[in-house]
Amino acid sequence: MKKAVAHLEPFIQSQGGDQRKAGKVVLATAKGDVHDIGKNIVGVVLACNNYDVVDLGVMVPAAKILQAARDEEADIIGVSGLITPSLDEMVHVAAEMAAEDFTIPLLIGGATTSRLHTAVKIESSYEHGVVHVPDASRAVGVVTELLGEGSQDYLDATSAEYETIRVARAAGLAKKKPLPIEEARANRARIAWDSFSPVAPTFEGTRVLADITLTDLRDYIDWTPFFRAWDLAGSYPKIMDDDVVGKVARDLFADGQRMLDMIIAEGWLTPTAVLGFWPANAIGDDIAVYADESRTAELARLHTLRQQVRHSDDRPNWALADFVAPDVTGAKDHIGAFAVSTGAGVAERCAAFEAENDDYSSIMLKALADRFAEACAEYLHHRVRTDLWGYQGDTFTNHELIRERYQGIRPAPGYPACPDHTEKATIFALLDAANVIGVNLTESFAMDPAASVSGLYFAHPESRYFGVRRVEQDQLVDYAARKGTSVEVAAKWLAPVLADER
Ligand code: SAH
Repeated sequence: MKKAVAHLEPFIQSQGGDQRKAGKVVLATAKGDVHDIGKNIVGVVLACNNYDVVDLGVMVPAAKILQAARDEEADIIGVSGLITPSLDEMVHVAAEMAAEDFTIPLLIGGATTSRLHTAVKIESSYEHGVVHVPDASRAVGVVTELLGEGSQDYLDATSAEYETIRVARAAGLAKKKPLPIEEARANRARIAWDSFSPVAPTFEGTRVLADITLTDLRDYIDWTPFFRAWDLAGSYPKIMDDDVVGKVARDLFADGQRMLDMIIAEGWLTPTAVLGFWPANAIGDDIAVYADESRTAELARLHTLRQQVRHSDDRPNWALADFVAPDVTGAKDHIGAFAVSTGAGVAERCAAFEAENDDYSSIMLKALADRFAEACAEYLHHRVRTDLWGYQGDTFTNHELIRERYQGIRPAPGYPACPDHTEKATIFALLDAANVIGVNLTESFAMDPAASVSGLYFAHPESRYFGVRRVEQDQLVDYAARKGTSVEVAAKWLAPVLADER
């Protein structure tokens, strides 16, 4: 569609056609964030609906967004982001808009954004309209409302809805009595370390794997998130027969397969991977990573967060540190870490597609590069279990792998069990990932290029994913002390999980 519009525009102009656009929208991915698939889809959809779109790209500071909005006389600003630190950056954009007397509405979108966060944290910073856009397909509807006759009514209704959310949320919070951190620790996962004999990995230290091919990865791809990237809800393969989106899903999948074949045949992407294993023991809620088996010199210390929710049954209050043998047990346990990427060169290829108005291919390539990166993480985890760490032989099907039916986990900083993105800095330092596979961390600890995955390996059979959920003030203070940062700095990074009373 975008290609067709670009082709037709000169003819329309020469015919004296009406060139007036329906309105102008400035779009940007928040500072520190590199993810832009969703934003780009929104941009294309708006442009095809006769809106003028000024796309500022990724990692855009608030000041630049506001300046562009002023220079371009924009009618609306839209900010997008995928990782949780971007949420804070959006609050900052809203506050700056207020400070600089803006009166145009602000749209909030991207995977970690929510109506709740928009209502509680962002809308209260800016009074001229903040609207959460849950997916790209809603963007045109929202923008049309905001630029139409009834825009004030629409804003009032949205604002009232957000107020209802805030009131319900405050009531819910008041009802919940969290556990003090000491009580939560007393209810840590009860793992029988006495009867556990840890399996030692086949090597210690780091290793770069240069032998992984795209063909190796193809069978490890999880296709469900591919459709989600395109805002199509449903799981693969069922989505292909869906009454509503089945046809679109089949077309999209076919186009994806075609590009996938080309990526493999022409070697567009190169999988890179680094992993490491080290002797490790838990010390309280931290994990000491040792230089060698003498366990005297510490290479690094990982800091984990513990659930403080008051469970209604006898479930433990988990922290990832629970899955590593405590130092006092004397058990010779280990931990692993990894970083993989298929993102090198993607940005350049996408820029070339966009230069030809082929945004579809650009978005497709980003979505596929992400699929390959996740597949690489799954593939590597398979090799870790069966060979490199070698604690489990397995012959799982693609479906079983995607459901993660195996022993051990690979939690990723920023996800619910370890919501602090800054822990990625420790992992990257241990692996020397920036140097050996060329993946860098942005100021918000997003991995650049975006088609990258990193995390830790835990092998214990009882290790599992969970959500830390709300962190209370007592744990925040304790955590800051453990990390050697101020409470303010820790609070900045933990903002998405902090209880509101703070
Ligand atoms: N097959 C998916 C894999 C990504 S989602 C894909 O192709 O996109 C699953 C991964 O997310 C896990 O392997 C883990 O790295 C991370 N993850 C999921 N839930 C988590 C949690 N609660 N805490 C930490 N990491 C989690």
